[in-house]
Amino acid sequence: MVKIMTGPNFPKLDLGFFPTPLIELKNLSKYLSGPRIFMKRDDMTGLAFGGNKTRKLEYLVGEALFGGYDTLITGGAEQSNHCRQTAAAAAVAGLECHLVLSGEPPDNLTGNLFLDMLCKAQIHWAGDFRKGESIPGIVKKLCFEGKKPYTIPYGGSNVTGVLGFVEAAKELSTQMSQKELSFDRIIFASSSGGTHAGLVAGAELYGLNAEITGVSIDKENLEEGSFVKLILDLANETALRLNISKVFSGNDIILKNGYTGDGYGVVGELEKEAISLLASLEGIFLDPVYTGRAMGGLIDMIRKNKISEKESVLFWHTGGTPALFSYAEEL
Ligand SMILES: *Cc1c(COP(=O)(O)O)cnc(C)c1O
Repeated sequence: MVKIMTGPNFPKLDLGFFPTPLIELKNLSKYLSGPRIFMKRDDMTGLAFGGNKTRKLEYLVGEALFGGYDTLITGGAEQSNHCRQTAAAAAVAGLECHLVLSGEPPDNLTGNLFLDMLCKAQIHWAGDFRKGESIPGIVKKLCFEGKKPYTIPYGGSNVTGVLGFVEAAKELSTQMSQKELSFDRIIFASSSGGTHAGLVAGAELYGLNAEITGVSIDKENLEEGSFVKLILDLANETALRLNISKVFSGNDIILKNGYTGDGYGVVGELEKEAISLLASLEGIFLDPVYTGRAMGGLIDMIRKNKISEKESVLFWHTGGTPALFSYAEEL
């Protein structure tokens, strides 16, 4: 039986290796004649090639086990990192896993999709339903078959998942005092909002003074400021759950737009250069969809002097590297 830890309040299943390393990217700083740049290596969380979803899944799967659920169901894009990590977490926890992926079955299994299959996740192809519209129907069917499915939202971004990134803020603050570092800015890829909301709430709770700066990844997220509102609501809901007295406002959610290129998952020059620089200067692999885009944004801001060389910046590597293999021809 897997061991569920119940923290002060919330059930949790250990799935990764923490703390993840905090390193300095000296070659990149030098190349850009820019600020000191550090990196938080959540590509090294250890679960199924790592990534930020490990932190959220520790609480989500903990809650599922605690509630006596026997099946996990979630959805995403064909190359979803969240789905790959969920498939692996389900394997660890001894739960059945159903993944609802957008599009049609591709000709060859590669990257994350290949790993989903190795973990024996059951894949449901959703065609044009890209937002998980078909999940309720599958849940109904599973219940009818006598199963007890636990639905994880896209990207694992609900209050339970966000707890993982509140904890990440605590982890970082401990590392910062150990290493006597401080950061003016923490920058990362933001897409379903859980990472962002957790870092905002966690920064308040643990006294991180850095500007928590998300780089928006998905064009569709930008309509009418709806994404800022989603992150804000999630941060406030999390604050309530943790008895943080502060009420966040729109000003607390810093989101950089302008780097979404031709849309979600479409690789352009921005991502290509960032991936190539990090590999050739630091021996670190970024992913084509999230971290390549966010790092491209950071590099652009440094070149345009929107981030001064006096600053000290932390880039949060949120994982995603298995997707590189399915993009090899475009890179
Ligand atoms: C999911 C994901 C993100 C975005 O995190 P959210 O919490 O969904 O905003 C960033 N990078 C990678 C590699 C991801 O898989």
